[in-house]
Amino acid sequence: MPVPFIDLKRFEPGFTDLWLEKVRALSLAGRFIGGPEVEQLEAKLRQDCETSCSVTCANGTDALQIALRAVGVEQGDVILLPDFTFWATFEAVVNVGAEPVVVDVNPDDLQMDFDSFCKALELYKPRAAIIAHLYGWGSARLQDFRERAAERGIALIEDGAQSYGVRYNQESIYHSAQIATISFYPSKVFGAAGDGGAIVTSNRKYADQARQLANHGRSDSYSHALCGWNSRLDSLQAAYLNLGGSYLPKRLQSRQQSASYYRRAFSDLAQMGQLSLPPPPPGFEENGYLNLLLLPPTRRDELIKALQKKEIGWGIIYPLSISEQAGAYKYLKRRVGGENVKNIIHRVLSLPLFPYMESEELEQVTEVVRKIMTS
Ligand SMILES: *Cc1c(COP(=O)(O)O)cnc(C)c1O
Repeated sequence: MPVPFIDLKRFEPGFTDLWLEKVRALSLAGRFIGGPEVEQLEAKLRQDCETSCSVTCANGTDALQIALRAVGVEQGDVILLPDFTFWATFEAVVNVGAEPVVVDVNPDDLQMDFDSFCKALELYKPRAAIIAHLYGWGSARLQDFRERAAERGIALIEDGAQSYGVRYNQESIYHSAQIATISFYPSKVFGAAGDGGAIVTSNRKYADQARQLANHGRSDSYSHALCGWNSRLDSLQAAYLNLGGSYLPKRLQSRQQSASYYRRAFSDLAQMGQLSLPPPPPGFEENGYLNLLLLPPTRRDELIKALQKKEIGWGIIYPLSISEQAGAYKYLKRRVGGENVKNIIHRVLSLPLFPYMESEELEQVTEVVRKIMTS
């Protein structure tokens, strides 16, 4: 039985009919930008993320650029970011004219390394930093990152593109962030029928700036207080998200169950040291965004071949560090920390994980992995 890496078409019964109804109603009303669907979504974001402000925008990359500008980052400012994240985190820094400095990751939680971050603060006196919450959890030292940034008076932007639904110390992971960003790219945990993004914060000043920047710097219909750009979320995307939002608890639960299934199914292999499945650090409740195995590099190739033969999807997230990307060469002058990332990129492998996976699918995937890793 082939198993896709991700299936975006596994809808709840009746979902597509409800969606078509919404498309019809919005089309007949000529309601394409802004309006009640966007307002409803922003209210849901405030509730889910436990923040007092929310601003929707065109995508998660724009959300980062808007957040950087909203906290006051200007041309030439130094910004810290992890050397291991999706490329957009880096692009956003470059696109606002700031100077990126990348920081090595921690080998245990695979997030930005806190000690290297502290070293980078001393060395480069950054204006702001971005941490990315990867794999459906976040850094074991998240609280320390937040405290240190506050002590230093630097803005800490949390790239939460992958972390919708993650709980940290019994709160939404977004709740205690100075400012955080979300992506509604279809394959993310809260996915749209296209592109979308948002900024959440409880800092009213940041939110007001973000709102203006995402809408041509508008202070009024034809008065422009800032030079922003057009990064509005379509009403149709908001409508799709509102509909999906009502099923989100079920989708999250299904993801979490499959994530736990893999952990259980490989616990003996992990004990024998054949592979490892890093658990979410203490204090975190994962959202089941991604499965993550760490394998000996030679076994990884072997396992990929076996998965391909059985038509089972897999992913390497990510195959290169930011500093190794060809596009970084021109912009990246400085890097802080060790070489943990070099070791990690050759060992990561992700198995299929998405809402409503069938138990036969999970069994099929597990069987292939067990067969290779015990041989
Ligand atoms: C997906 C993602 C983004 C970018 O979001 P888009 O909506 O695709 O622009 C940024 N950062 C991380 C960590 C992501 O996973």
